[in-house]
Amino acid sequence: MDVEPESAEGSWITDTSGNKYLDLYGGHAVISIGHSHPHYVQRLNTQLEKIGFYSNSVQNPLQKKLAEKIGKISGFQDFNLFLCNSGTEANEAALKLASYHTGKQGVISFSQGFHGRTAGSMSASDNSCITVPSPESPNVHFAELNNFHQVESILQNHEIGAIIVESIQGIGGINMVSRDFYHGLLWLCQQHGALLIMDEVQAGFGRTGKFFSFQHYSEGLNPDIITMAKGMGNGFPVGGVLIHPKIQSMYGLLGSTFGGNYMACSAVLAVLEVIEKTSLLKNAEEIGEFVFNHVADLKGLIEVRGKGLMIGLEFDFPVKDLRAELVKKHRILTGSSSNPNVLRILPSLAIRKEEIELFISALKKLLSEKKYHETVYLG
Ligand code: PLP
Repeated sequence: MDVEPESAEGSWITDTSGNKYLDLYGGHAVISIGHSHPHYVQRLNTQLEKIGFYSNSVQNPLQKKLAEKIGKISGFQDFNLFLCNSGTEANEAALKLASYHTGKQGVISFSQGFHGRTAGSMSASDNSCITVPSPESPNVHFAELNNFHQVESILQNHEIGAIIVESIQGIGGINMVSRDFYHGLLWLCQQHGALLIMDEVQAGFGRTGKFFSFQHYSEGLNPDIITMAKGMGNGFPVGGVLIHPKIQSMYGLLGSTFGGNYMACSAVLAVLEVIEKTSLLKNAEEIGEFVFNHVADLKGLIEVRGKGLMIGLEFDFPVKDLRAELVKKHRILTGSSSNPNVLRILPSLAIRKEEIELFISALKKLLSEKKYHETVYLG
């Protein structure tokens, strides 16, 4: 997008010429509590004035505080927390732990899944734009999302230590894991001695109206490992892995120079404090429903998918031009996906109804002005 942000507040970005843009992309699902949230700014400033960084060779009580708070808010008090700096690192750590714990290097991943760009996460991603052959890559088998029998057959024929899945595929175009499939995966993992890794890097931290998106249907039956990043730090680079206590690591197996530093912990604590004190998750759920209820009659819309504020609008035409015109004519930022026909909406969890209404009316206007169906998409 040809936009140069200079400042931002709430759901709005101001560029270097003073133009204001409504941000429904959140810098790729990262902005959770809103740009420059006052509590977030104050907490980071205060921390920076005290101490900005020291490595994990000293005691950092913020890490314990953070682990306790994430455990309490997410309902995973008995899980252990490893802190790193990004989503791909969280998935690398998860895959490594699964291999260590099970002694099996095979991994099952899913068509159109995305887990990151470093060797292990990349190998588990089904995205030709980011993958190259990697000597260190785990032995990955791809299955169709929601195809229980395919997963079962891979497990019967290979040594599989982990299944990694996004409960709502983000970059893949907002494709959802079904309740039955999730429970099927848990059962299969138990039968075959594999670990279930839920990649909540994009969908986690309240984006879908629950703290983790699989909690919409997990009914207390939980995965073995949960990875998170994006919304966790509201823009501060941080990632994390929640690890079932049955999975023991050895000292030094997971580690990071920057992971869990004072600034990162303060950023995540600020996010969690705002989530705790306000009704952001409820807002995500309600605004999400509002979008679902108000886009059904859009011209050319095939399907609306997603949950809360992780929404994909699939049209019967490639959305490239529509996205560009939303920016140019209405100053609204939205996201794309690897499915060219899907417009992705990933706003701050604090977005207001009046703001989302601006988007819906802009979409209606653009769709009534022009037949995007006739656009020739050249890639
Ligand atoms: N997992 C999912 C589901 C993602 O959407 C992404 C990034 O978009 C990643 C992992 C990788 O995260 P990062 O870019 O922080 O490495």
